[in-house]
Amino acid sequence: MPRRATAPPTVAALITRLEGLEQRILQLETGRVGPGDGRASVAKRSRAVRRCPGCGLPLRRRNGRCAACKRPLDSI
Ligand SMILES: [Zn+2]
Repeated sequence: MPRRATAPPTVAALITRLEGLEQRILQLETGRVGPGDGRASVAKRSRAVRRCPGCGLPLRRRNGRCAACKRPLDSI
């Protein structure tokens, strides 16, 4: 007779899962996501983009320098 791979969930385990789901629904309804969730990071990052003080373009570091104008970025 094959054994069950997983035991049936306990009431406590179901409550824990339910609380987790409620938290996720709340975050979705309010438009926020928890830390470590990548869904909100794109829009947030595009707003707070750092710009190179030398050329004013969105900063893309490359070898410690701005990728566009090659200005060293040690000072910022
Ligand atoms: Zn630059």
